[in-house]
Amino acid sequence: MIPTVRFAPSPTGRIHIGNARTAFFNWLFAKKRRGTFVLRFDDTDLERSKEEYAQAIEVDLAWLGIVPDLTVRQSQRFPLYHDAAARLKAADRLYPCYETADELDRRRKRQIARGLPPIYDRAALKLTDAERAELEAAGRKPHWRFQLEQRTMRWDDLVRGESRIEAASLSDPVLIREDGSYLYTLPSVVDDIDLGITHVIRGEDHVTNTAVQVQLFEALAGEGSAPIFGHHNLLTTASGEGLSKRSGALSIGSLRDAGIETLAVAALAVLTGSSESVHAVTSVDELRDLFDLSHVSRNAARFDEAELAALSARTLHGLSFEDVRDRLAAFDIAGSKAEPFWLAVRGNLGQMRDVLDWWRVVEGEIETQVEDQAFCAQAASLLPEEPWDATTWSTWSQAVKAATGRKGKALFHPLRLALTGREQGPELAQLLPLIGKIRAEARLSAPSS
Ligand code: GLU
Repeated sequence: MIPTVRFAPSPTGRIHIGNARTAFFNWLFAKKRRGTFVLRFDDTDLERSKEEYAQAIEVDLAWLGIVPDLTVRQSQRFPLYHDAAARLKAADRLYPCYETADELDRRRKRQIARGLPPIYDRAALKLTDAERAELEAAGRKPHWRFQLEQRTMRWDDLVRGESRIEAASLSDPVLIREDGSYLYTLPSVVDDIDLGITHVIRGEDHVTNTAVQVQLFEALAGEGSAPIFGHHNLLTTASGEGLSKRSGALSIGSLRDAGIETLAVAALAVLTGSSESVHAVTSVDELRDLFDLSHVSRNAARFDEAELAALSARTLHGLSFEDVRDRLAAFDIAGSKAEPFWLAVRGNLGQMRDVLDWWRVVEGEIETQVEDQAFCAQAASLLPEEPWDATTWSTWSQAVKAATGRKGKALFHPLRLALTGREQGPELAQLLPLIGKIRAEARLSAPSS
């Protein structure tokens, strides 16, 4: 079966790395099987949903390399939900209830006090027409509940395996609020049917919804119409806290601004809490090959925020020139030097933008640091003629050693400092040919700092 999956954020905040986990699981699942990935904005809550968040989510997904085959907004699909609600009412599966939140709350407390599970008692089902008319005349507006069939709901979960929930242990869910607005449950199922969603891959906080939603699929589209479900564990911080869209912590936007590599976010989002160890990858294809929903653990998926920067740096260290050619060009790092430059400096980068500093070392002006003017001047006079290659550094430093009698740190440290302006950095054997004779000579001959 060629799958159609969906990622269905509500645009009430920026997406975070935990949402990215769900997005990637769907994306990789579809890409592995040449399937279709739908981005669905669950924006029926017109008050809390914001267009700016929807746009930001699209930008964040694009940054993650996730390009939907189709984007839909629930706010533009209300006629479908009205139609489904009418059909459920006609089939006596959707019934009006008039309890206020306070009444329901008191009822729940009484049930708990008596040791009973706090399940809605279906009192509204027993109302007579006259009683309903009376409530409406008194100004009460109904909310609408879906009448569950009290049977065992079973499904073979792509992550959790054989799963079952007794529908009798659940309250009949409210599908429509008093003001006529829809809660998430019904629109989600209507859209999954309408868009031909074959696999619903989402966080395990939705397991209970699945029992309800399977009954809705069956009520609206017939027996066996429910998609295949997979509920993955949720990412938590190292201390076990969940991530919140509202706090903005670990949002994709903030990680991008902090210079974290996309592939590091992807690897962490996908591999944490699976049988695969979290490690740097060089492409999304590599992740796609590693990814398997059945390898996702049922335990918590904890990750350490501090790991992200290190993973990001390791990711950069492993990228080939081809991988970064366009990104370097965007920094105006191009031409014949670009590739040897990348190979020289990548292992020293914490973030991509650090290339600018190193590019100045090989191509521009830097503040040189000449510790020992006489020694550096002598070293400058020993620089060989160009062309230079990877052996030049060794030939030259041997000559300087022979001429000055210095060795070890006393030999190398002042040379590095004069040539690069820094205490540490990439191999001088690789940097020196990129710096070239004119710059090297000028830096070594600069006045003492
Ligand atoms: N809007 C829901 C959420 O963000 C979607 C859940 C689902 O995938 O069905 O949790």
